[in-house]
Amino acid sequence: MSFDLLISGAGPAGLCLARALSDTGLSIGLVEQQPLHALQNPAFDGREIALTQRSAALLRELGLWARIEAADPAAFSPLRDARVLNGASPFAMVIGHALTPRSELGWLVSNHHIRRAALAEVQAAQQRHGRLQLLCGQPVTQVHCNAEGARVTLADGSAHSARLLVAADSRFSPTRRAVGIGATQCDFGRTMLVCQVTHEAPHEHAAWEWFDYGQTLALLPMNDDPATGAHRASVVLTLPHQQIEPLLRLDEAAFSADITRRFDHRLGAMRLNSTRHAYPLVGVMPHRLVAPRFACVGDAAVGMHPVTAHGFNFGLLSVDTLAHELRAAHQAGRDIAAPELLARYERRHRLATRPLYEATRLIAHLYTAESLPARLMRDAALRLGERFTPFKRLVAASLTG
Ligand SMILES: Cc1cc2nc3c(=O)[nH]c(=O)nc-3n(C[C@H](O)[C@H](O)[C@H](O)COP(=O)(O)OP(=O)(O)OC[C@H]3O[C@@H](n4cnc5c(N)ncnc54)[C@H](O)[C@@H]3O)c2cc1C
Repeated sequence: MSFDLLISGAGPAGLCLARALSDTGLSIGLVEQQPLHALQNPAFDGREIALTQRSAALLRELGLWARIEAADPAAFSPLRDARVLNGASPFAMVIGHALTPRSELGWLVSNHHIRRAALAEVQAAQQRHGRLQLLCGQPVTQVHCNAEGARVTLADGSAHSARLLVAADSRFSPTRRAVGIGATQCDFGRTMLVCQVTHEAPHEHAAWEWFDYGQTLALLPMNDDPATGAHRASVVLTLPHQQIEPLLRLDEAAFSADITRRFDHRLGAMRLNSTRHAYPLVGVMPHRLVAPRFACVGDAAVGMHPVTAHGFNFGLLSVDTLAHELRAAHQAGRDIAAPELLARYERRHRLATRPLYEATRLIAHLYTAESLPARLMRDAALRLGERFTPFKRLVAASLTG
């Protein structure tokens, strides 16, 4: 088949890009290796996604917000404050919503809700007109892009061509690699364990990032369980993989006791309330974001360390920036894969993401280093940050826009 635009990967970024361009008149093919039933029923994967206000606005525009809320009115949990802690000290640097004109810094929502709603929006667009095709159940196995066009072959041997190919197939994007774009990887040598818990004391809708000695903990506040009223949160524990593995196997009671102890009983007793999921921590910065008739979006454009909670926020930003360029070019009757258009997209997205990517790398290294100077330095940095209101305002403004 021949399309204007082919997207490889129907994760949150690929689906949102297809949805964003679905009413432009462009013909779009969206290729995904997973079968359709897996996309329609995405399993809970432990990820609780912190959304900036800008991302929340984009999800509203794309129709995802209303769909998620209709399916689960308690799905979006407001994020009022963020507390950063170091070691055993009770001291916290607090970035509060009060630094902004908003009543919350951002929102939290489970990743599987985003994926289900994005697919439903794409399927609704497919029904409105036949210019969007979902090609599920076959991975892209071969890619060929040059100035004349883009061509992909799927595992079943079928071939498809397009004026532009967009990779949205994860931070380790095989499509990006196939067109000859390398990437710098930063393996942090740590694994994250994520799960939901219930706990005794209320969290006041504050997120915690706790750089404890020998472990990093995060707590992401969820809405109370509408059925039982129990306080709920998502917890994220970062350790070397060999220490995560036994925790995945502990029985429910032993795991609950372990996580309560790790959080120093600060929210009272915690109880495991979901399946547990583990993610290796690898940051990825591709050397280029574009090539002739090719561009990357989502994690394929920048694979962030989750500590600053920006992977999907940057994914949505890439979708918005590229969709804006493609829409304008199509409306003006210009080539949607013109080299200057792709170069502009690359420049804008790089500028918007690279500084935080590098800062996140530094933070992750400094805040997991166990030497005494590193511990003292991060304590001093937090105390300085707490007193320096312009810094906190800047961070709060970057979340609320
Ligand atoms: C523990 C954790 C917590 C996080 N928390 C946050 C947060 O708070 N805020 C935030 O903004 N982000 C967060 N993120 C990041 C966020 O989850 C990712 O940025 C986002 O899911 C990436 O979406 P994507 O569509 O780019 O890639 P993916 O979700 O990786 O999707 C890629 C898709 O491409 C498909 N694919 C791969 N290869 C092929 C192929 N050859 N052919 C066809 N299809 C293919 C895959 O099957 C998949 O469906 C977190 C991540 C983790 C791990």
